[in-house]
Amino acid sequence: MTDLSGKVALVTGGTRGIGRATVVALAAAGATVVLTGRDAAAAERAAKEAAEAAGAGEVAGRALDVTDGKAVAALVREVAREHGRLDIAVANAGVMTGGLLGMIRPEDVDSVLATNVAGTLHTVQAAARAMMRKKARPAGGGGTSTGAIVVLGSVVGEKGSAGQAVYAASKAAVATIARSAAKELGKSGIRVNAVAPGVIETALTADLGEEVLAANVANTPLGRLGRPEDVAAAIRFLVSDEAAFVTGQVLGVDGGLVL
Ligand code: NDP
Repeated sequence: MTDLSGKVALVTGGTRGIGRATVVALAAAGATVVLTGRDAAAAERAAKEAAEAAGAGEVAGRALDVTDGKAVAALVREVAREHGRLDIAVANAGVMTGGLLGMIRPEDVDSVLATNVAGTLHTVQAAARAMMRKKARPAGGGGTSTGAIVVLGSVVGEKGSAGQAVYAASKAAVATIARSAAKELGKSGIRVNAVAPGVIETALTADLGEEVLAANVANTPLGRLGRPEDVAAAIRFLVSDEAAFVTGQVLGVDGGLVL
């Protein structure tokens, strides 16, 4: 069992879906987790439920809109000050809008890029700053990293997807953020990786429709949709010391859909 006791983690968009499952997985491994959502009451409620489900660790809920870079920086600073450190950050908050090219509205482009791309950048930047403020890693490296960051890409960021040009572009950008940040932050002992889920059963995919979901299952070698817990387990591995020599990678959690 992965041991994250003594570690402090931030998970953006932890009120439901993959974010919530990640909060539970990290707390169950002993971490102290701060989850965020746009509404303070919903975030606090989600934190209480996640703490009960985890049965270990500690979970707190805070309001945050990741499109607001200054707010992200302030919250991350506050979390690091309150807990004395930040070891783990999961830039999970994301939105999806569909639509064939001719139907894409300018406001959808703005909202998807502001949340998925700018929101991820704000989170990675603020987390890296907080992690670098911790004591420097021992000379010569060593197994324990200064910090670990995971961002949420997508299988469509690798393959593209008809009807999802904006979302797919945003997720390709997220994978590139992980690779670039891994190159920049490696010397500070901070690892940055992405997970690229396939189709996972959450509110985000609830409106895709039976036909699209069935087609995805048919194209998935493992023959089913993903569960939030499938993705959370991969994230827990990537932020743990078991992945101490893994950085700049995009780990597919898609039942083979990308193939
Ligand atoms: P959900 O819609 O279930 O959850 C999204 C979460 O993001 C919520 O907690 C929501 O919180 C939060 N959120 C949305 N916008 C903002 C914002 N501006 N600021 C802060 N928080 C925000 O989605 P999933 O769990 O399915 O997806 C999580 C991540 O995984 C996303 O990045 C998504 O793109 C990615 N992903 C999902 C896949 C899937 O099939 N489900 C596949 C591939 C990638 P609240 O509404 O409370 O503010």
